[in-house]
Amino acid sequence: MTSKALAATLFGPEDLRMVERPLDPLASGMVRIRFGAGGICGSDMHYYRHARTGDFVVTSPLVLGHEIAGEVVEISGSAPGLKTGDRVAVNPSRWCGHCTPCREGRLNLCENIFFMGSASKTPHMQGGFSSLFDAVPAQCVKIPDHVTYQAAALAEPLAVCLHAVARAGDVKGKRAVLFGSGPIGLLTMLAARRAGIAEVTVVDIAAAPLAFATRLGANHVIDISKGDEALKAVAPYDVAFEVSGTAAGLASAIGAVRRGGVVVQIGNLPGGQFPTPANAVMAKEIDLRGSFRFGPEFMTAVELISDGSVDVLSLVTAERPLSVAPDAVRLALDRSQSVKVVLTAQ
Ligand SMILES: [Zn+2]
Ligand SMILES: [Zn+2]
Repeated sequence: MTSKALAATLFGPEDLRMVERPLDPLASGMVRIRFGAGGICGSDMHYYRHARTGDFVVTSPLVLGHEIAGEVVEISGSAPGLKTGDRVAVNPSRWCGHCTPCREGRLNLCENIFFMGSASKTPHMQGGFSSLFDAVPAQCVKIPDHVTYQAAALAEPLAVCLHAVARAGDVKGKRAVLFGSGPIGLLTMLAARRAGIAEVTVVDIAAAPLAFATRLGANHVIDISKGDEALKAVAPYDVAFEVSGTAAGLASAIGAVRRGGVVVQIGNLPGGQFPTPANAVMAKEIDLRGSFRFGPEFMTAVELISDGSVDVLSLVTAERPLSVAPDAVRLALDRSQSVKVVLTAQ
């Protein structure tokens, strides 16, 4: 069965179009999925604006989307545990399973990883903002009937945040500060709460996302749009999460933790190199830890969404059909009204 798919395809900065692309007959060992829902991520927005995110540069047309869920409509070869009609959350990562990081259990660091909707490799691996797309069975995690595709699509960003909290070590009873009140910041807050954190302060430069953080349960919020005096007046934190993707956010995170504190960098800074207050890392013996994507946390994320432990839909501020994805991305970019925008099939 050869068919066509309608896909949100990026051709260059601010040039995102819905394009019909032919699909090859389904390759052996693959499953074909009909789009159910897709979350628009900060990285999709960076790709849209600059045709790059961090050091990943788009060099040929790229179908966006890596936070996706849908229905299995075709299977070629064997797909243990899967059948057509299954509703699945789709893990955008394909790990090789045999490189050194994979053997160490650090799947997200796989040297041969394929990640949907990412320009980290050339040729790019196409994403899931497409009416039909293909995956390997290992990417598909079945969801119960009561879980909507919209919620299942957000397993991916939740997995990112579960991984970031795991990177922070034991956070039980600790005080944390979080730079960046977007979806990843907010989900990190919810994930940290689940891990037993005592107190979370959220820092941002925009009022609307901070108000949203308060509604979701932040203990304190600090607006540093006019300077960071209020932040400096607070006792140093045990843990800082840098989610803003800015050099200033990273510098503030390093400045805000106590001696012996932990800084977890989740945010993807603009490409290139930046001055960092590295002597503070030395003198305070700060553990500065990177956090990149996720490993087995994807499975955990689906479980936490399914059993109601984390209400990912509380972040969703708008739903739009896939067919108007370019408009939806522009809506998502407006932080005064959007937290998380989710694409739906219709
Ligand atoms: Zn994402
Ligand atoms: Zn590997």
